[in-house]
Amino acid sequence: MSIASNLEAINLEVKALGIQLVAVSKTKPNEDIMEAYEAGQRVFGENMVQELVEKYEALPKDIEWHLIGHLQSNKVKYIAPFITLIHSVDSLKLVKEINKYAAKNDRIIDCLLQVHIAEEDTKFGFDHAELVEMLRDEEFLTLKNIRIRGLMGIASNIEKEKEIKEEFYELKSLYDGIKASFYRKDDHFDTLSMGMSSDYKLAIEKGSTMIRLGSTIFGKRVIKHVKNND
Ligand SMILES: *Cc1c(COP(=O)(O)O)cnc(C)c1O
Repeated sequence: MSIASNLEAINLEVKALGIQLVAVSKTKPNEDIMEAYEAGQRVFGENMVQELVEKYEALPKDIEWHLIGHLQSNKVKYIAPFITLIHSVDSLKLVKEINKYAAKNDRIIDCLLQVHIAEEDTKFGFDHAELVEMLRDEEFLTLKNIRIRGLMGIASNIEKEKEIKEEFYELKSLYDGIKASFYRKDDHFDTLSMGMSSDYKLAIEKGSTMIRLGSTIFGKRVIKHVKNND
């Protein structure tokens, strides 16, 4: 199967449902990204800042780049000029740093707040209490150069369908609750990023609006990033 035909098959499955597809191109060469680009894909996700910046510089400027991996505060400045959406915002400190560099670049940067839903504690993200605490924080409420678009979560890396479904259900419930409590009048809070190659069908069933697919589009990755501290 080619990248173009993989994309076509996925789009056939999800486009009519209004679900946004992020093509996760981490570790993949620019030629693979260009093949997807030529097939019409414009939204790509990367998890390492340096790789993302190199690809941004080399590839067409109408690509919308999403950062899906953990972001260290001291690396925000490298992506602030061009990033379209940061999925992995997981602390108030990071939010403030993104706001600062967004302002320096005269931009408003769209962000998703990452919620920890998996069993593994190697994964990043807020728990429910921390999330609510930040959304009520006075300083957070003054930040003008970030726009919170929704939530993101990564389910446990397990085979058990029932548990994965429960994790997605939990995240969707939290998303609905946060929207009702904090963003009721804000049409921009509209994105629930959940679902990867192994579990995107379950995620869609549970209310995902954005899926992040790597291997389904580009084939298996040679290097496996179990945890990245980029
Ligand atoms: C790598 C990655 C994906 C895509 O993984 P696949 O299993 O190849 O679809 C999605 N989300 C995040 C956060 C990732 O790091």
